[in-house]
Amino acid sequence: MDLKHKLEILADAAKYDASCASSGAARKDSRGSAGVGSTGGAGICHSYAPDGRCISLLKVLLTNTCLYDCHYCINRRSSNVQRARFTPDEVVRLTLDFYKRNFIEGLFLSSGIIRSADYTMELVIDVARKLREEHHFRGYIHLKTIPEASPALIEMAGRYADRISINIELPTQQGLTKLAPEKNLARTQEAMGHIRRKIDERHAEKRQPGAPKPPPFATGQSTQMLVGADDSTDAVILRRADVLYGDYRLRRVYYSGFSPIPEPSSLLPIKPPPLVREHRLYQADWLLRFYGFKVDEITTDAAPNLDLQLDPKLAWALRNRPTFPADINKASREILLRVPGLGVRNVERILGARRHTRLRLADLLRLRVPMKKVLPFIIAADHTPARLGLDDDALRARFLPPPKQAELDFDAPPPVAGDIDSVRSGEL
Ligand code: SF4
Repeated sequence: MDLKHKLEILADAAKYDASCASSGAARKDSRGSAGVGSTGGAGICHSYAPDGRCISLLKVLLTNTCLYDCHYCINRRSSNVQRARFTPDEVVRLTLDFYKRNFIEGLFLSSGIIRSADYTMELVIDVARKLREEHHFRGYIHLKTIPEASPALIEMAGRYADRISINIELPTQQGLTKLAPEKNLARTQEAMGHIRRKIDERHAEKRQPGAPKPPPFATGQSTQMLVGADDSTDAVILRRADVLYGDYRLRRVYYSGFSPIPEPSSLLPIKPPPLVREHRLYQADWLLRFYGFKVDEITTDAAPNLDLQLDPKLAWALRNRPTFPADINKASREILLRVPGLGVRNVERILGARRHTRLRLADLLRLRVPMKKVLPFIIAADHTPARLGLDDDALRARFLPPPKQAELDFDAPPPVAGDIDSVRSGEL
């Protein structure tokens, strides 16, 4: 098989992995696809560097042959797809060729598991080692690691990579037992804990005054969780994400809506979840990490899934009307962060500006705050919200998209890292 053909197969097989890329890209449905990567161009996807830059990566698998039989995966042992395998030298050559031509700024490398987890991990590391040590490659490298591989190999991957990731795939052991019988949640979390300790150690070494510069190590780790492949609710998914952020200090949890694969397993649902579910999970994730929300506030026992029609912050505000209106000239930072439409940056600006003046609506307009969303929830120097006789349902109805728009929203590709920038600038 020539290199181009292998690239087509192995780039297409890699597109299901969202743990490096904006899944705001085209739908990952493989049926009838022409073998493009997650954002178009053979195997080239976009990701975000630790400093926030959007970078292009060559995103490929070393091989799509796999010993495991994860039901949701097109590369599973029992799948009837054409198999291909790069040698480490071929991946090195492709990466350098694309890099020198400015097509890419780095490499995202994952692999199906061949022979054993350690053997596969060694091949993946070999690619990164050759790039760094033999070719002095300065681009970005993201390596997918295998939780079953030995800790020494995972550590070695961290030495060559800027970022490493281990996919948790499903939020519960129960889900894994059903859909990915060879995978184990505790073992995956153990591997994440090991990476976290290594990253912490490296930070501590860097802070030692006068100590020699420690060898490089990945600056962070990320993971991917599938949405809609099993019956886990959003509450279960977000609780797992909360543990991963808290206990293992993951940089990002990527939520990837389960997408149909050719010849699917009978254990999988027939239809993928609505795209908007993935989007709502990203919004909720942002609330957990930057807005001080707890999972049990975003979802409830009565409603364990996120409202698909309203963003989770607005939905929370509508469930907690007594908290509002919040006086933007007096309310604490914590309360302001809970006002629908006020993002982290605008809250900081409000807190800074109100030391000098009493804020009026015109000041919020200057900050480009979405006024329609904010007005029912705030008091300003020249504004007290009229209740307009609205009960909770009537207020909710004001924020629902018109039916046509709702349909469009449901079909729109879910933004991820980039979209979150719009969240950051105040949309939530
Ligand atoms: S380990 Fe599971 S998810 Fe990964 S490539 Fe193999 S079958 Fe697919």
